[in-house]
Amino acid sequence: VPEVRNGDDHRGGVGAGLLTAAAVRGADGELRCEGVPLRRIAAAAGTPVYVYNGHTIRDRYQRLQAALASVPHRLHYTLKANSSAAVLRVVRQLGAGVDVVSGGELHRARCAGFAGSDVVFGGVGKTDDELRAGLAAGVLLFNVESAGELRRLDAIAREVGVRAPIGLRINPEVSLEAAHAYIKTGERGQKFGIPWDDAIPVAELALSLGGVELVGLDMHLGSQLTRIDPYRAGVARLVDIWRQLRDLGVDTLRYLDIGGGLGVRYDTEASPDLDRFADMVLPLVRETGLTLLMEPGRFLVGNAGVLLTRVIDTKHSGGKDFVIVDAGMTELLRPSHYGAYHRVEPVAPPGEPSTIVDVVGPVCESGDFLALDRPLPPVADGDLIAILDVGAYGYVMASNYNSRPRAAEVLVEGDRFAVVTRRETVEDLVRLEIPDPDWRT
Ligand SMILES: *Cc1c(COP(=O)(O)O)cnc(C)c1O
Repeated sequence: VPEVRNGDDHRGGVGAGLLTAAAVRGADGELRCEGVPLRRIAAAAGTPVYVYNGHTIRDRYQRLQAALASVPHRLHYTLKANSSAAVLRVVRQLGAGVDVVSGGELHRARCAGFAGSDVVFGGVGKTDDELRAGLAAGVLLFNVESAGELRRLDAIAREVGVRAPIGLRINPEVSLEAAHAYIKTGERGQKFGIPWDDAIPVAELALSLGGVELVGLDMHLGSQLTRIDPYRAGVARLVDIWRQLRDLGVDTLRYLDIGGGLGVRYDTEASPDLDRFADMVLPLVRETGLTLLMEPGRFLVGNAGVLLTRVIDTKHSGGKDFVIVDAGMTELLRPSHYGAYHRVEPVAPPGEPSTIVDVVGPVCESGDFLALDRPLPPVADGDLIAILDVGAYGYVMASNYNSRPRAAEVLVEGDRFAVVTRRETVEDLVRLEIPDPDWRT
């Protein structure tokens, strides 16, 4: 079992100190999150439970802020990575804006205290109701993804009597290396954004409509990007559009939104080198004089979360060893959905890895696993196990499949911890059902 270290030395070095792990082993060998032993959290909040380290989020935010310091910019944290109110409070206190992709996320952002003007509203299929909600909130801008959406937004804005600030999400159609095909979005032939060849015609359409004002150009390449050069290629393409529009006399542009996608380390991959990122991207941005917007999700929260789970049973079957725990695909979908790798660590001081095991959940699906073919020290029923680096796309992708109540969420700040989202109860599972439905013909 690779030891969890609070530094950048995990399996062969990368950019200075970038890997602030959410959980590290204390002198007693026990896993802890900052000053709090994970065992204490499990005892107080039960399992499965998500644990977030506020310090890790702040550390990431400040590093990215520092890297972008030489151009006017704002970070808009992407809610879909982790929309827990407690995480949103941390991010808001840092001064970030947000990026939302649904009316539900807009509502969460507003509940967490973000102003409409803090919000970038993206998403490939915004309904009329969502567009109305965004207008009512007074969002900073809508990133529009098609000519059809542009016309709908124009009509709704004129009906309401306002002018909608818009960015155009352009598919830069660059080739990408990402961990999984499902998390690439900026290649040719994907559903996202305005196809590269249509960018200028759609911009001209926007300029002709009275209900919208073109204030930004936007892209989002994909997620968990391990290379910097696609950013450079993508930004260069956005700048190319900016130049063409400038030559057409367009003077309303204010924002260059380059999306999210910065990767984090889950295993042996390199964390993004932020200085190199800045060196490659910022000179292009500077030329435009526009304010840079970035929409980091995973980068801010991915390494900040741990999923604590308890061993229910162990089993030897068909020549394989299984460790069955009380979290599964319902709590953490990433392994079964994307084949994602997450480190698995016993919370107690670990012995030497002795067996190769599959760590699986209790859900009635063979695809319900958290880790496959992992060397693990011996564990027994009741032992606590930590699944690491689950702060992004963890709890937000949870489901109630098999009628499993969703886990609790805990935030750690230094020596203190608090339950910030209650565990769902079985009563919650049936709350929305209508026992005596109102039949209609
Ligand atoms: C998902 C998403 C992001 C954030 O992606 P990360 O890889 O988590 O940084 C940013 N912008 C848009 C439009 C997205 O859909």
